[in-house]
Amino acid sequence: MDERLDLLPCGYFVLTNDWEFVEMNKTMRDILCLDNMPRHMHDVLTVPSKVYFQTYFVPSISVHHEIREMYLNFKVDKCPLPVLMNVTKRNGLYEGIVVQIKVRDEYENQLLKSKREVEKIQQQTDEAYNKLLGLLEEVESKQQQLLELNGELQELATRDELTGLYNRRVFRRSLDAAIERAELYTIRSFSLLLFDIDHFKTVNDTYGHQVGDDVLRELARKLEHKVYFPDIVARIGGEEFAILFDDPDHQKNCERAEELRCYIENSELGSISITVSMGITSFQKGDQSKYIYGRADDAQYTSKRNGRNRLTHI
Ligand code: GH3
Ligand code: MG
Ligand code: MG
Repeated sequence: MDERLDLLPCGYFVLTNDWEFVEMNKTMRDILCLDNMPRHMHDVLTVPSKVYFQTYFVPSISVHHEIREMYLNFKVDKCPLPVLMNVTKRNGLYEGIVVQIKVRDEYENQLLKSKREVEKIQQQTDEAYNKLLGLLEEVESKQQQLLELNGELQELATRDELTGLYNRRVFRRSLDAAIERAELYTIRSFSLLLFDIDHFKTVNDTYGHQVGDDVLRELARKLEHKVYFPDIVARIGGEEFAILFDDPDHQKNCERAEELRCYIENSELGSISITVSMGITSFQKGDQSKYIYGRADDAQYTSKRNGRNRLTHI
């Protein structure tokens, strides 16, 4: 017999029409605990199985030419050994395969165990995946919070807390940028306006610091209505403000500054009227920020010296 057949993990045999063995592999002989091949099928069956074989197996295979998983008991050392047998009719002979129930049970148990392990791993994977989803959601929400916080920080870093106008830092940066731009494009000039509220100390002394704050906030709102991008308005000190007029036409910027001064003079800021002293200058070639700022500051002080509530141009 072919060695591969001989060493199959299940018993293999061939029977004649009269149920006599023609071939039997080693696995089958080992199952039966026999050194040699027995003569007849009856020789290996218990008495009840012999009866079952004759009354069920024999008529059934003659009709169907095949029997699947027939339960029988082999007689091994006078004890019954339960097996499952598959037999197929081929070329006038009967080829059979035998598996011990014990072995089959082991396979099934092993299969069941593997299935349970797979289910357990699947469940663990599902749990880990759900946990990961939760973590991802948390990371996304934290990132969102961080973005919002960054936005707030950015806002805090650029805005004056009391009035919400740009702060001194932004004004400084904008002035440097305007100078750079003007140096790069020689035809491109701009104007710097500085102004300071007149006698603001008296406002505080008369109405209180809180009212003084309200006046500053009101003034900021009015300025925002009159000055917009690309011009920049900023609060650069207590009651001091600055405007960068982007227009290269200095004369026009002076007119706008004068209009603004009149507008402030004629406005009611929470039932209080104020005036401002202004100084304006335009960019000159080779200007550094300290020079242009110094000229506007000098112009503003000249306005103060000359009686306040006016615009001086240097
Ligand atoms: P001048 O016309 O010479 O500018 O007179 P002034 O009173 O405005 O000038 P001074 O420098 O003597 O006083 C400025 C005042 O502005 C003093 C200070 O109490 C007030 N001030 C500065 N910052 C704030 C602020 O944030 N809120 C309030 N309410 N007052 C402020
Ligand atoms: Mg001042
Ligand atoms: Mg003042």
